Amino acid sequence: MTGTDGTGTPAATDQYPPTGRLAPAASGEVLLSGVLVYGEGEPTDVLVRDGVIASMTPTADGRPEGLSADADILGLDGQVLLPGLVDMHVHLREPGREDTETIATGSAAAARGGFTAVFTMANTSPVTDNPSIAEAVWHKGQATNLCDVHPVGSISRDLAGGELTEFGMMAESDAKVRMFSDDGKCVHDPLLMRRAIEYARGLDVLLAQHCEEPRLTEGAVAHEGPTAARLGLRGWPRVAEESIVVRDAIMARDYGGRLHICHASTEGTVELLRWARAQGIPVTAEVTPHHLILTDDRLETYDGVNRVNPPLREDRDVAALRQALVDGVVDCVATDHAPHGSEEKCCEFDRARPGMLGLETSLALIARIFVLDGDRDWRFVARVMSERPAEITRLPGHGRPLAVGEPANLCVVDTGRTWTARGAELASKARNTPYEGMDMPVKVSTTLLRGRVTCRDGEVDGVTA
Ligand SMILES: [Zn+2]
Repeated sequence: MTGTDGTGTPAATDQYPPTGRLAPAASGEVLLSGVLVYGEGEPTDVLVRDGVIASMTPTADGRPEGLSADADILGLDGQVLLPGLVDMHVHLREPGREDTETIATGSAAAARGGFTAVFTMANTSPVTDNPSIAEAVWHKGQATNLCDVHPVGSISRDLAGGELTEFGMMAESDAKVRMFSDDGKCVHDPLLMRRAIEYARGLDVLLAQHCEEPRLTEGAVAHEGPTAARLGLRGWPRVAEESIVVRDAIMARDYGGRLHICHASTEGTVELLRWARAQGIPVTAEVTPHHLILTDDRLETYDGVNRVNPPLREDRDVAALRQALVDGVVDCVATDHAPHGSEEKCCEFDRARPGMLGLETSLALIARIFVLDGDRDWRFVARVMSERPAEITRLPGHGRPLAVGEPANLCVVDTGRTWTARGAELASKARNTPYEGMDMPVKVSTTLLRGRVTCRDGEVDGVTA
């Protein structure tokens, strides 16, 4: 199976490790009855057999031919069928901070959020800077079997920004690491970044940069602007992000390779990405749901739950990021799901750890902004939350068209089911959702990973670890 990264380069399946070895694709049948494929057309019965979509027939025609007597039939009348979501940017905290999240609890949150694959960042403890940790993360994810958990390797040893890690060894390990990032920290040394780009180009792996010039953000806890000034909080200026975006885009222009910008947060970053795209520079970008919906006026309460890096910014940044996602200048949504314990969040704002939960609320928020309150359709949601992230990471089997013969990595959205976000009710071990008490307009009812139900009626199904 092949996909493309948008530049026409085919993706080889063998770039990634084989999946489902510990728990193979379900051999039974699942019937998703009455779904609207991409939210369009007539109700359809989608029959899943042996991990792939076996048939798609109008519900009005009656049960599909050859349906086995013991098929698992899910009545999903009028619900929206999408490809399983792919998140390029999460923090599952294992190893090291299993008190806040584990691969198992993070996978459960992913399944409830409609995700079938996630990439978990390298800022674990110890850091994912060598093959053995990457392999441990990969194997644990496969044993949990609720979502494919791909480890991201760090660019620098121990995230120290000094020397490069062995990309090649991690790429050749059982985990087959295909993305490298020091996320949480910026690779700010230009010489180290140049070497990383050249090394990554040789191996054809993706580099994801957390753009933050650290000299400009020392002690910063909030977006530099009128709100931070009024509240007496140290400001994180837009230029700290934009100066790295432009520097790295120029490096990608001159040295090649595939560069990805993590959590774009400013209007200026959008302008720079637009410029880079126009030059044909191979740079892609993501935006988080929180940067698409929240602004720094949330900081008035000094509640640490609103501290995040990069910080919540202003209305004009939100507007520019929304338009950029619509235009494709920003490619995709990534949650930057970042669990923290209550002692790390319920403290003075300056001391609160940056980061927010995202996996279980992202689909509902993106649907609200772009479909329910906007003029986009569900195909747009499929593009920015599944197809594009799978293309950028060249991940086979995910973000594929909803068609017969394709892998059954799927999610189903109940557009008639509202719910209220409550940290205590999330599958995630942590509770630091900034959306506490917020009404969510739609809910993921069902998720399938290789034909096996991982989320059923909104709840995790079949935990194996
Ligand atoms: Zn980051």
